[in-house]
Amino acid sequence: MPLSSAIASGPLERHQRRRAVIRYGEREIVVGGCAPVVVQSMTNTDTADAIGTAVQIKALALAGSELVRITVNNAEAAAAVPAIREQLDRMGIDVPLVGDFHYNGHTLLQDFPDCARALSKYRINPGNVGKGAKRDTQFAQMIEIACKYDKPVRIGVNWGSLDQALLARIMDENAARSAPWSAQTVMYEALVTSAIENAQRAEEIGLAGDKIILSCKVSGVQDLIAVYRELARRCDYPLHLGLTEAGMGSKGIVASTAALAVLLQEGIGDTIRISLTPEPGGDRTREVIVGQEILQTMGMRKFTPMVIACPGCGRTTSTVFQDLADKIQTFLRDQMPQWKGEYPGVEGMNVAVMGCIVNGPGESKHANIGISLPGTGELPSAPVFIDGEKRMTLRGEHIAEEFQVIVLDYVRSHYGKQTA
Ligand code: SF4
Repeated sequence: MPLSSAIASGPLERHQRRRAVIRYGEREIVVGGCAPVVVQSMTNTDTADAIGTAVQIKALALAGSELVRITVNNAEAAAAVPAIREQLDRMGIDVPLVGDFHYNGHTLLQDFPDCARALSKYRINPGNVGKGAKRDTQFAQMIEIACKYDKPVRIGVNWGSLDQALLARIMDENAARSAPWSAQTVMYEALVTSAIENAQRAEEIGLAGDKIILSCKVSGVQDLIAVYRELARRCDYPLHLGLTEAGMGSKGIVASTAALAVLLQEGIGDTIRISLTPEPGGDRTREVIVGQEILQTMGMRKFTPMVIACPGCGRTTSTVFQDLADKIQTFLRDQMPQWKGEYPGVEGMNVAVMGCIVNGPGESKHANIGISLPGTGELPSAPVFIDGEKRMTLRGEHIAEEFQVIVLDYVRSHYGKQTA
């Protein structure tokens, strides 16, 4: 590839897919078509605890989750859904809610019509809708309710709960081949077939094709990439993308990022969820932030100003610059719910916090605002660069506070709405 082409290359164009719209009140979230990739999340509260669930949904929504899924696993949970919606309305949170149904979804949606109405989308796992003759009937009941209330549906296949009858059928077909596929390929085929056949069945029952979103989640990075490439090739439904059971801490983040980055770069994926296991007492909003950061660092969307910070090395003997980088990143993220309306475009701002003179001034000049802190043996002063120019030097005990004021002034003067 000539260098000029290599420089120009970025993410491939998104696959041309149908466009599903998820609505709540005036809020419309578009998944598919040419819409930006949507970030969603899921609560881990007991849905029957309406207040606790509403509080977590609010936190997820304020962190930037554009859809929030809640489990609806029993009568108490289904009964709580309208109360959760009302509580969110009272708190001014209009994020659309997605109901996650397994085993008894047909009964819950039937018996709790206010729950069916309060949700903006249903997730149906075709491997968990019933066995034998009941399977088709119960799947049809859920789709009919989605049609009745005009709700989109995600047909969400998961390899931990794959439809065993379908898997057996595909294994039989495979056994009859002159050159049978590997067990892994059979599994991929079963996942993709389950998603597509159930989507087609939903359309036959009456659900419009633009009300269907598909997912085929697995927990291995290479498996996910293979399955979604095939799924994307064989249908044009919008795709919900995520590595299931990604795990805890850095492993979960790295595995999710590795898998999603490859697929997103190929134009595959219309909405993402990062399935992180929180640390005990950990913050559920982490999964939203990781999803946003994947999209933002790949240049696909902008959510919050980014802090560029060097890793530090033997030239930095104190934690001053680490503290400053952390403080500034937290400050910027915390401001975003308010800044989003007040300062359009601020989400694209870059702030550099650097540890010494080696790369500090250079990196700082590339950012909107940058500060180069003194490394070991340097004069105790921190030059500040604004739009590539050195504008001032900070000294003393209050560099962090003073730099925060400079950032705030920059935001106000560069992104404030122009008044007539
Ligand atoms: S900018 Fe300085 S402190 Fe930061 S990693 Fe480079 S040499 Fe080390």
